Amino acid sequence: MHGKNQQNQHKRIVKKFLYIETYGCQMNFSDSEIVVSIMKDQGYEMTGKPEDADAVFLNTCSIRDNAEKRVLRRLENLQSLRKKKPNLIIGVLGCMAERVKESLLEEAEIGMRIDMVVGPDAYRDLPYLIRDAESGHKAINVILSTEETYADLTPVRYDSNGVSAFISIMRGCENFCSYCVVPGTRGKERSRSPKTIVSEAGQLYERGYREITLLGQNVNSFMWDCSTDRDVINFPALIDNIAKKHPLMRIRFATSHPKDLSDDLISVIASNPNICRSIHLPVQSGSNPVLKRMNRKYTAESYMERVQSIRDRIPGCTVSTDIISGFCGETEEDHRRTMSLMKKAGFDFAYMFKYSERPGTLAESSFEDDVPDDVKTRRLEEIINLQQELSHESNLSDVGKVFEVLVEGVSKRSNENVMGRNSQNKVVIFKDKGFKAGTYVSVEIKQCTSATLLGEAVAVSEQCGGE
Ligand code: SF4
Repeated sequence: MHGKNQQNQHKRIVKKFLYIETYGCQMNFSDSEIVVSIMKDQGYEMTGKPEDADAVFLNTCSIRDNAEKRVLRRLENLQSLRKKKPNLIIGVLGCMAERVKESLLEEAEIGMRIDMVVGPDAYRDLPYLIRDAESGHKAINVILSTEETYADLTPVRYDSNGVSAFISIMRGCENFCSYCVVPGTRGKERSRSPKTIVSEAGQLYERGYREITLLGQNVNSFMWDCSTDRDVINFPALIDNIAKKHPLMRIRFATSHPKDLSDDLISVIASNPNICRSIHLPVQSGSNPVLKRMNRKYTAESYMERVQSIRDRIPGCTVSTDIISGFCGETEEDHRRTMSLMKKAGFDFAYMFKYSERPGTLAESSFEDDVPDDVKTRRLEEIINLQQELSHESNLSDVGKVFEVLVEGVSKRSNENVMGRNSQNKVVIFKDKGFKAGTYVSVEIKQCTSATLLGEAVAVSEQCGGE
């Protein structure tokens, strides 16, 4: 009897391990932290190796065909691990789960076994789903919500440098850009209560974090109606409030839709030195007919007006962007307009992709994906080459300047150097003189590449001056 009790006790304390891989955008990384928090309550601890895991989750992205192909290859790959560990639970989470739904559980259809399919609004259901999967059943929940923001959950910062963290402030998107799956996979826009956002920022500050990124598919749509005091809190009011409460904390945000980047927000950034001097403003194309087909709701001219306003009112602010090459019907003239807008805007950094048609989007049903792949590739190469020149020029203009750099840790390339970022979101490498992660160091830039600034520390400060 005694032995049996001991056995039972032993059974109860057997630890279970979760391995999670995250694909795609920062929103997904933030969601994975919510997932880990929920799974911890179910007795799962994190492991960095899939071989040690009882459950492997892939938090997926559907934005491009390639992103989904990568996930499918990884899932195939994981089947050999299942042979060694027959009880292994494999789960697909996030946008691909939402887009492909039940089909991911059809072994005959996809040629492999997946145990769980969980959409981005269904993570609260994970305790039930994992129990089903543990007892050998397949489990799915891909119901989208109009309210879920996971506001009350404390994300587990499992892959953190202890200095910078994401805070999700709103979910979903209703912009319906014609090429984008997000409105279908993440549903309606909804904002999280500002009280919980401010409190999460405060907790992070207390734990030593010095940089937060406020996340949402379109942060400018953040809107909270405080029905009790008839007040409405919009994004400029929210970010202003956090910046003033935590002057030693740097604040970033992503992503802004150009049509919604208001003068108010620009003023709030200009007046708070700890809101970073770096704005990501996806342009996608420099040609008005293409922007119209993309349903972006702005023109190249109005986009440039926003960039000019940023440059005029927030001196030293960098502007980064996203560009799609070879969207439906894009001509050589359209492509030239994109290149010309890139030069005019003088982007400091860009994410650049070939157009990839996604099932279920407006572009798929309305336009022909008619730019041949070799043309898309050539245009993309031209865009990348131009951006490299622009990034290099932007970095060259920083040589000789002194920036306040927030140290993130040891440089990957050499233990003798540390790396951090300036307010402009540029990576700065400099000699380690015992600087701790989370310290602000003034660094004079001596050299640069198109991707990195190299400098020398000139002073250590507790300030967060923003320049
Ligand atoms: S703004 Fe457009 S591109 Fe961005 S998530 Fe919404 S629909 Fe997609």
